[in-house]
Amino acid sequence: MKVDAKQYFSKELLAWYQLVKRDLPWRKNRDPYRVWVSEIMLQQTRVDTVIPYYERFMAKFPTVRHLAEAPEEEVLKSWEGLGYYSRARNLQAGAREVVERYGGIVPDDKEAVASLKGVGPYTSGAIMSIAFNRPEPAVDGNVMRVLSRYFCLEDDIAKPSTRTGIEKLAVSLIPEGEAGDFNQALMELGALVCTPKSPVCLTCPVMEHCAGRLAGKETELPVKTKAKPPREELRAAVIVEGSGAHAGKVLVRRRPDKGLLAQMWEIPHLLVPEHGDDAALAEQLSRTLHEETGLLIRPKLALMDAEHVFSHIHWKMKIYAADLGAGSEDGAGSAESAECTSRLRGGEEMHPLWAAEAAAAYESGFGAPANAAGARTAEGGAETLPEPYSWIGRDDMERLTFPNLFIRVLNHYFDNR
Ligand code: SF4
Repeated sequence: MKVDAKQYFSKELLAWYQLVKRDLPWRKNRDPYRVWVSEIMLQQTRVDTVIPYYERFMAKFPTVRHLAEAPEEEVLKSWEGLGYYSRARNLQAGAREVVERYGGIVPDDKEAVASLKGVGPYTSGAIMSIAFNRPEPAVDGNVMRVLSRYFCLEDDIAKPSTRTGIEKLAVSLIPEGEAGDFNQALMELGALVCTPKSPVCLTCPVMEHCAGRLAGKETELPVKTKAKPPREELRAAVIVEGSGAHAGKVLVRRRPDKGLLAQMWEIPHLLVPEHGDDAALAEQLSRTLHEETGLLIRPKLALMDAEHVFSHIHWKMKIYAADLGAGSEDGAGSAESAECTSRLRGGEEMHPLWAAEAAAAYESGFGAPANAAGARTAEGGAETLPEPYSWIGRDDMERLTFPNLFIRVLNHYFDNR
C-alpha cells in the first residue's frame, strides 16, 4: 500500500500543481540567485508580505554581484520591515562568497551551495531542486506537516532525527526529472490546502490515500513539542523631543556593530525590572541615559506601550515622551524641569516622589556624566552628542534603517504630534 500511496501522492500532487500554481515573481525563471533571495525572504514571512519586498529588492540588486557590492546599510534598508535582519546580512555575505569563489555565478554544486553563509539544508535543497532540478529534498515546517499527515507519521517533528527521516522520505517521492516542480508542489499544498490549523481535505488532490485523514488525525498531526517561549524583557523607552535647532526632531541612536539588530537605529531604551510605576521608570530612564549621554532627559508623558517578539526574546516596552533639561539643549532651569515632569499620560499627575526627585536631580544635574564628554554644552548641537546618538526628523527615516517596532512607534509619534 505504501508504494502505491507514494506513487499516487507524487503523481496527483504534480498534476494538481500544474493546474493551480500561483504566479509568483520568483517563479518567472529558474535563476538560482532569484530562488535564493525568495527562499531567504520567505523564511518566517508570508508570501503576500514578501512579494513587494522581493520585487523592490530584485530591482535594486538584480544580480549576485549587485548585492555583493552594495553597502550593507542599503541592503538593510531594503529589508526594513521584513524583520530577522540577520537573514539580509547573511544573504549579502553569501553573495560576496559567490563573487569571490565562483565569479558571481551560483554553482550547480550541492556542497558549495550548502556552505554559503545563511544557507541551511532547506534553502540548499530549494535552490538545488528549483534552480538546477537536482533531486534534493527541501523540507521545512510546511513540508513536514504535509508528509506527517499524508503518511500518518507520529514522530515529533521538533526532533532532528524526525527531520532526517522526512528528508529521506521526501527524496524518495521526487519523480524523475521533476524535482523543482515537485518540491514547489509540496510547498504549495502546505501553503494553500494542508494548512496548519484547518486543512481543506475536501479540496486536496491526495485526499483519497491520506493516512492521517483516514485515521481522523489531520488536525492532530504533526506532533511537535512546544519550543521554549521567548524570554520576556521589560523595557522603558523615550522619544526625546528636540527644541531650538532641533525642533521637530527626535533623539535616536545606532545599535552596536554586533548582536541583536546590529547597526540598526532605535529610540533610547533600557531594560527595567518591572513596569508598574511610571515615576520610577521615568527616573531610571533619566538617570541611565544621563550616565550614557550626559543629557538631562525629562520624561513628561506615558505615550504608548509596544512590543516585539524575536525568536528568543519578547520585548515589552513602555514609551514616554521626554524633553531635555538644563545644560542639555534649551537651557531651561530646574524649576521648569520639575514643572515639565509633573504630568503623565492624559494629564495625570506624576508620582509626587518622582516630581520631587526630578527637581532635585535636575538641580544637581545628576553629577558628572560617565560617558558623554561635551554632551552638555549649551544648545546641544548634533556634534555634541555622544557617538551613537543623533537628532532625526521624519524625513531621515527614509535613509536610516529601523526595526519594525521603532518604525511603528516613530510613525505614531510623528502622526500624532
Ligand atoms: S487530505 Fe487533508 S490532511 Fe491529508 S494531505 Fe490533504 S489536506 Fe492534508
